[in-house]
Amino acid sequence: MTEFLVLFFSLYIWHALGVTIGYHRLLSHRSFSCIKPLEYFFVLGGYLAFEGSPIWWASMHRAHHRYVDTALDPHSPRYGGVWNAYIGWTMHDTYPEHIDPKAQGKDLLKDPIYRFLDQGGDWKKAHAVNFAIGIGLRVAMYFIFGWQVALASTLAALAVLQIPLLLNVVCHMPKAGYKNYGGQDDSVNVWWVAVLAMGEGWHNNHHMFPGSARSGLKLHEVDPSWIVLRICKLFKMVGYMNEAVVPRFEAKQKSGLLAQLPELPKLPEMPKLPEFQMPEFHMPQVPSMPDFSLPRMPEFQMPEMPKLPEFQMPEMPQLPQLSDLNLPEMPKMPKMPELPELPEIPGLQQPKLAKS
Ligand SMILES: [Zn+2]
Ligand SMILES: [Zn+2]
Repeated sequence: MTEFLVLFFSLYIWHALGVTIGYHRLLSHRSFSCIKPLEYFFVLGGYLAFEGSPIWWASMHRAHHRYVDTALDPHSPRYGGVWNAYIGWTMHDTYPEHIDPKAQGKDLLKDPIYRFLDQGGDWKKAHAVNFAIGIGLRVAMYFIFGWQVALASTLAALAVLQIPLLLNVVCHMPKAGYKNYGGQDDSVNVWWVAVLAMGEGWHNNHHMFPGSARSGLKLHEVDPSWIVLRICKLFKMVGYMNEAVVPRFEAKQKSGLLAQLPELPKLPEMPKLPEFQMPEFHMPQVPSMPDFSLPRMPEFQMPEMPKLPEFQMPEMPQLPQLSDLNLPEMPKMPKMPELPELPEIPGLQQPKLAKS
């Protein structure tokens, strides 16, 4: 039994960190960067807890932040009811119109493994692949390691599957927890969800700093996922890590660095200035302008044009007649001599020349 419990809790922690660190803080929010084997280690933990396609999960979660507690939020208890916020939202065929991984999850689509697990955005196919791999692996575990391992793994996965589904409902019910920050959404911090979800229950903090790798901000808000990430950073497996500015400031305050500063003397109160009243201002009346009329223009009459003198064609001089001209007579042409008759050629029909 002890062996079984150790197995169950170890696997529970891996699967839960897989959802929190892998699916949520890394893939959905990119709140830190890490080496690829560590990314796959955490994402696999989430995938084997039946969390579905990583692209699908992260795209829907990004939409949850974008439209938090509005009609477009895929799982707000305020809209669509508790059942939809719990599991109803996962039971569609494909994405609604306002959510598109090609537009909002380009970084996720670059990974060929995640693309395969997403099955081209077909939700039912992607869920089926996840179910087949999850169950197939447990069957293999049964044959290789025996029933205890297979059962512990299956139960740990099913338990972790409940956590984010539960979180979506409970951490968006104002009565279930408390707020550190205001805002229009219903998100609240719920301590017992934080315990079950490895620090993910500090959901009001998370909605305030969604890009932060740390969600527990106050001293009592323990955040195991953040501690794990810190350890990974120590071993250089995590590179860049975004941590909310506020907690760093608060931590400094608590460590006494700021407390050690001498208090600044209070500034003397400013004497009250007498109320200032605008003197009434009257516009002086503008004297009315005298009527101004334009002098009448004299009527304009076109002067009469002078008449042009009539034009008369001069008479043309008469040309002399031909007979009046003394032209010399033309010489007569000489007569052409008569041509001799041509001899007859036998067999040839001679064309008859026309006699001139
Ligand atoms: Zn939320
Ligand atoms: Zn989030």
